[in-house]
Amino acid sequence: MRNVGIDLKPPTKTCDDMHCPFHGVLGVRGRVFQGTAVSVAAPKTAVVQREYLHYIDKYMRYEKRRRRIRAHLPPCLEVTVGDQVTVGECRPLTKTVSFVVLERVPS
Ligand SMILES: [Zn+2]
Repeated sequence: MRNVGIDLKPPTKTCDDMHCPFHGVLGVRGRVFQGTAVSVAAPKTAVVQREYLHYIDKYMRYEKRRRRIRAHLPPCLEVTVGDQVTVGECRPLTKTVSFVVLERVPS
């Protein structure tokens, strides 16, 4: 199994996915962040949603904003909807996928 270069718990299962950062040849570099998996319906793909607060000067309050990204989900990771996951940036794998799910954050 390859070392991804990020401190995280490696998957217990193995897979033969070429685009797996642990068992394939996919490099992870750039941004790393956590989000909630809101869909795992598409094959080997997860939709990860991140919520953040944006400050509004005029009202001196925060508004909640959310962004969704599509991330590659290697078969060795067991992720269901609602799971907190760590994703890392990788090369563009498809038109809309340039992140990969790295781990399921234990809750
Ligand atoms: Zn794998």
